[in-house]
Amino acid sequence: MTSQDAAERAQKLRDLIAYHAWRYYVLDAPEISDDAYDALVRELEQIEREHPELVTPDSPTQRVGAPPSEQFAPVRHAQRMYSLDNAMDEAELVAWLERVGRELGTGTRFVCELKIDGSSIALTYRDGVLVRAATRGDGAVGEDVTANIRTIKTVPLRLIGPGAGATVEVRGEVFMPKTSFERLNEAQEAAGAAVFANPRNAAAGSVRQKDPAVTASRDLDTFLYQVVEPERFGLASQHEALEWLRASGFKVNPDVRVCSSADEVLAFCREALSRRHDLPYEIDGVVVKVDSFAQQAELGFTAKAPRWAIAYKFPPEERTTKLLDIRVSVGRTGALTPYAVFEPVRVAGSTIARATLHNADEIARKGLLIGDTIVVRKAGDVIPEVVGPLVELRDGSERPFVMPDSCPSCGAKVWKPEDEAVWRCVNAACPAQRVERLIHWASRQAMDIEGMGEELIRRLVDEGLLRDVSDFYRLDEEQLSRVATGRVKKDGTPVLVGPVVARKLAAAIEASKHRPLARLLFGLGIRHVGATVASVLADAFGSLEAIGSAGLEELASVEGVGPVIAASVRAFFENPDNRDLVARLAAAGVATREERSEPAGNRPLDGLTFVLTGALLSMTREQASEALRSLGAKVTDSVSKKTSFVVVGENPGSKRDKALALGVPVIGEEDLVRILDSGELPA
Ligand code: NAD
Repeated sequence: MTSQDAAERAQKLRDLIAYHAWRYYVLDAPEISDDAYDALVRELEQIEREHPELVTPDSPTQRVGAPPSEQFAPVRHAQRMYSLDNAMDEAELVAWLERVGRELGTGTRFVCELKIDGSSIALTYRDGVLVRAATRGDGAVGEDVTANIRTIKTVPLRLIGPGAGATVEVRGEVFMPKTSFERLNEAQEAAGAAVFANPRNAAAGSVRQKDPAVTASRDLDTFLYQVVEPERFGLASQHEALEWLRASGFKVNPDVRVCSSADEVLAFCREALSRRHDLPYEIDGVVVKVDSFAQQAELGFTAKAPRWAIAYKFPPEERTTKLLDIRVSVGRTGALTPYAVFEPVRVAGSTIARATLHNADEIARKGLLIGDTIVVRKAGDVIPEVVGPLVELRDGSERPFVMPDSCPSCGAKVWKPEDEAVWRCVNAACPAQRVERLIHWASRQAMDIEGMGEELIRRLVDEGLLRDVSDFYRLDEEQLSRVATGRVKKDGTPVLVGPVVARKLAAAIEASKHRPLARLLFGLGIRHVGATVASVLADAFGSLEAIGSAGLEELASVEGVGPVIAASVRAFFENPDNRDLVARLAAAGVATREERSEPAGNRPLDGLTFVLTGALLSMTREQASEALRSLGAKVTDSVSKKTSFVVVGENPGSKRDKALALGVPVIGEEDLVRILDSGELPA
């Protein structure tokens, strides 16, 4: 980046950060996530490190929080209230621990505390009585919120024990427990008032109310962690200060550990991360502090934060990055799916560089331009997702995405039915579609050909050995062993699959001939026939031939199969190429009828239909379905009067309500486990 570019980018970042800091600190109404905000600050810090001449005194990297609101009387803090420096990953934490160790000598002890995601507060007691409570504000001047803080039940109005009668300032965090937050937002919604983005903002907003009665109704809680001028009370270390606070009547977080090595600190952080979602309040990391106050004094402060403490932040669940391109992939049904290609970033523990954008409407809805700075995250912590662009950071070089008018794989013209959002390549011979169909066939959920991965399938297609799925059954060991793996030896010659792997592959192909009919049907990739519909059809008809010759009405009358699915199944089997394919599969020895080996006596659930909704704890829904089917039950997606039982897991959907409305028995996971174990049905 040239210095001109850096200066422009820094200015844009500064303006954007200032805007979001205002929304967050002053309005308690952030528009972007903390992770996305932190990423912007980090980028600015990086530019300022590389171009120190760009650092301005008002840069958000040099300041804490925001100036106090005029709604409250200002309170000048006798001692500045600081923020904390961050370690964004374990490596940064270890680097900090090592640096501190070098300065203070080995054997330095650290105190690990949970980083409570609330709002900082300073409480002043005179002669043991609470006289003032202030927010952090910009660190130098905060807001007087005494009347509000007095309403919080865990804040002692008079100190006891070692603090009795003391004149002292203590600091800590006001927070809102998760359940109180949910209740508050439900009430806000019902009253048509604005909902809070997260418990931290709800806590900060509740502390900064004009009317203390509102604060009192908000169910706030506190954890205290700092004694100002601790030496006046004979305290020599952070862990002693925490004890003193507890004995004086304050609520102190019990999850504290004194550690004397980096390994112990890391272990605490990992434990905290794994328990994060089980705690009744939000935490966003761990604060590691040098225990000894004498050693803290040796290290001192920067303009913004103590040098003797660091906030280890949990892996971000959102990051910012640059959208390099939007490309298009062709799926097995010919659907063109645009996907984002961005600069690789680590999110929630792994590196991501691509995310599907679903369709052109979605790109328009998100307002994405190629070249944008974007926020990305992992949905459900697994699937990469583009949240949206940071429009303010555009520099004019961004360009819109245009859906190609021809297939990127075969060049055929693409087409979009008017009522659909998806463009399609309708050339059945399109190589991209062919490859996707083959990959689908070999996948775990379909025919499960172990070892037959995407890369190998592409090579087999390139070498002309695979055209459609029946060709799998024509491959022999000899052919397989000679296929290149894509890797090269040191001398540049390609590595081949070889006889050992080829034998395994041939065995896996052979084994796949005997998969249940439902898998075969799913593997064919008929539109609208997913795994559930496939098993309903397999159960109803028992063979591929019977399904292929069933009429529209016969198909549509099967429970769980509507007219759209029925029409799609008919269309598939009316196509002569598909009929040929089915014949070739059967000729190759692929089982096209249900091989029922279970004697009837072992199918105690014959004739019963189950619907599953919500998350199960002891198994996945797929495992539960498979287990039910193996006992003879049908498992369908939609609830009707004919449904025998609806199994309800955690966070069930509307199916539970529908079952109750129709009078269908609703059972829990325990009942399900009992049914699977003993075949015994609930009364
Ligand atoms: P911070 O919240 O990351 O860390 C400092 C604070 O941690 C302290 O002031 C203290 O209140 C708190 N803390 C909690 N537990 C503690 C403990 N055990 N010991 C010591 N301190 C403890 O830093 P910050 O300067 O308050 O604010 C930055 C935070 O605000 C970031 O998380 C940032 O993402 C968020 N923010 C978000 C937006 C947005 O738009 N989403 C805007 C501005 C700031």
